Amino acid sequence: IDFIRALSMPGTKEKPEERPMTEKQKKRMTIEETQKSLPVYKFKDDLIAAIQAHQVLIIEGETGSGKTTQIPQYLYQAGFTKDNKKIGCTQPRRVAAMSVAARVAEEMNVKLGNEVGYSIRFEDCTSERTVIKYMTDGTLHREFLSEPDLLSYSVMMIDEAHERTLHTDILFGLVKDIARFRPDLKLLISSATLDAEKFSSFFDDAPIFRIPGRRFPVDIYYTKAPEADYIDACVVSILQIHATQPLGDILVFLTGQEEIETCQEILSDRVRRLGTRVKELLILPVYANLPSDLQAKIFEPTPPGARKVVLATNIAETSLTIDNIIYVIDPGFCKQNNFNSRTGMESLVVVPVSKASANQRAGRAGRVAAGKCFRLYTAWAYKHELEDNTVPEIQRVNLGNVVLMLKALGINDLVHFDFLDPPPHETLVLALEQLYALGALNHHGELTKLGRRMAEFPLDPMMGKMLLASEKYKCSEEIVSIAAMLSVNSAIFYRPKDKLVHADTARKNFFLPGGDHLVLCNIYKQWADSDYSTQWCYENYIQYRSMKRARDVREQLVGLMERVEMEIVSNHGDTVAIRKAITAGYFYHIARLSKAGSYKTVKHNQTVMIHPNSSLFEELPRWVVYYELVFTTKEYMRQASEIESKWLLEVAPHYYKPKELEDSTNMKFSKNIGKTREELRT
Ligand code: ADP
Ligand code: MG
Repeated sequence: IDFIRALSMPGTKEKPEERPMTEKQKKRMTIEETQKSLPVYKFKDDLIAAIQAHQVLIIEGETGSGKTTQIPQYLYQAGFTKDNKKIGCTQPRRVAAMSVAARVAEEMNVKLGNEVGYSIRFEDCTSERTVIKYMTDGTLHREFLSEPDLLSYSVMMIDEAHERTLHTDILFGLVKDIARFRPDLKLLISSATLDAEKFSSFFDDAPIFRIPGRRFPVDIYYTKAPEADYIDACVVSILQIHATQPLGDILVFLTGQEEIETCQEILSDRVRRLGTRVKELLILPVYANLPSDLQAKIFEPTPPGARKVVLATNIAETSLTIDNIIYVIDPGFCKQNNFNSRTGMESLVVVPVSKASANQRAGRAGRVAAGKCFRLYTAWAYKHELEDNTVPEIQRVNLGNVVLMLKALGINDLVHFDFLDPPPHETLVLALEQLYALGALNHHGELTKLGRRMAEFPLDPMMGKMLLASEKYKCSEEIVSIAAMLSVNSAIFYRPKDKLVHADTARKNFFLPGGDHLVLCNIYKQWADSDYSTQWCYENYIQYRSMKRARDVREQLVGLMERVEMEIVSNHGDTVAIRKAITAGYFYHIARLSKAGSYKTVKHNQTVMIHPNSSLFEELPRWVVYYELVFTTKEYMRQASEIESKWLLEVAPHYYKPKELEDSTNMKFSKNIGKTREELRT
């Protein structure tokens, strides 16, 4: 591929002492020296004074200036944790919460989970001794349920505020409200260099504390023509940089685990074939579901003479800072959850990034020295096709979960909730309707007993309802395994390229009539029967790490079920009961077979397909319930099970009318048998 240099992003004035360090100097640097080198360090006293003087402070600073790792430590040193109070700091991403907590524990020379800890969904790594607590924004949201005044905290830092995740946006409203009756609580809203004025005016003109950035110029390059295959273009660009450019690490932005793995595979293969003709190239992935020991590897210094290439999701855009990045490769895409409020359908799609995102990404190349950013799109596309800013999540996702939480907090009037940017009215109404249909709200919009129990679970309302419905169908044992397996959200099956046939045979051995949910339950049960064995996973082409996580999630859910006094009972394989419980939660996700192997959703008549990996792919039952939609080349249902339409009248009588569920008989259905996966994918 052919790049053209278009422009240069200016850096701020560089002072001589801020010149990049050599590898040797770097190694000798102790943690203390690193801390002192961060831009925020010089402002330590001013910052503490400002926090003491104001209840709410907006802190703005370039990514990597030390906001997340240093400020909580400054507060700790300044005595903000006296009287048994904690310093809290929220992060939009799980990975960031874990990684930052680990780093701060190391800097303070304490064991992670003691004085410094983190708390994320299904995993609490804190103790009685914890005084600095990192957590996801969603976790803090849940903490409001047990501690509505956040009394155990002296300071709450809402970090990475510019990311504008749904939970962070809701937190703005919640913390602003409690600040009124907790004058002793300090609120810090920290963000990269975006939106500070907007945050300030939302928090009644709170003062803005700006940490001047240290930034070197970054040259921006664009491709001459659009790239058809950006994974391949990434690989080629990495190799070009490696072969022709001075040493310095490379950061590549991809959209998710699957893409990262593909890119890693192709790249490793090409590098291997080049052999000793090129310098050593370390290839390191980072994405949300990567085990934390592997995540930590991205922070290890690159050995002298070698080059590191980090393949990352947009985790590395602002939440994580990797030192010594000189080159950035940006294909210009990210994965986004999008909700269509007209159809009520939510789907994970790959979309172009915004200009603001693209500029953040480029900025990552200029932290330690002048850098280069290679955009795998044209200058024209940047100018004309990218939006200026990313639309905040609150304006594009399903609000069911958040509305249930707010109702559980006693906030009834959602229309007048103090939103930084309000969600679209239709989305709010749809969320209320859905909660009503699920039985979580009564017709006055008040939380029902069922709704209160649902809110106890850190789950989407549909999944919460499924879990609670399992009580009635006497299959809570099976349903909790299914819920845990669905929550893992990373690959269960292992499909190495050189053993595809074996892996696919192993996968099919788990198939049971009825569909994918039962397959998940079957896998979990067999694994439990093997005494949670690693060997068993290995023999069956199952990812051990995913299973281990499912087991952790399951244990947490069982704990919560006991708290709401649910019995854990099994119906020993009555699959009708299991599927009815699933349908009781997911009756919004029903599709009916239409023609030529495709399905239509019942209420909105959208065309959806059975995923080629589904156990129902060759069955094509008339009615299915699905877990989620994933859009690749088509809208695919992930995890689908066969149901009978009459169950819908039993589990959701308010939502379905018999007429909608009539089957047109005498239709001829062509089955997928005989076609290859590849044929059907396109
Ligand atoms: P900000 O929040 O302002 O973006 P951070 O506090 O996250 O900045 O980062 C400050 C510094 O800490 C960076 O130089 C980064 O490389 C370093 N750092 C953060 N996490 C780790 C880690 N896990 N290992 C090593 N260094 C880290
Ligand atoms: Mg940060």
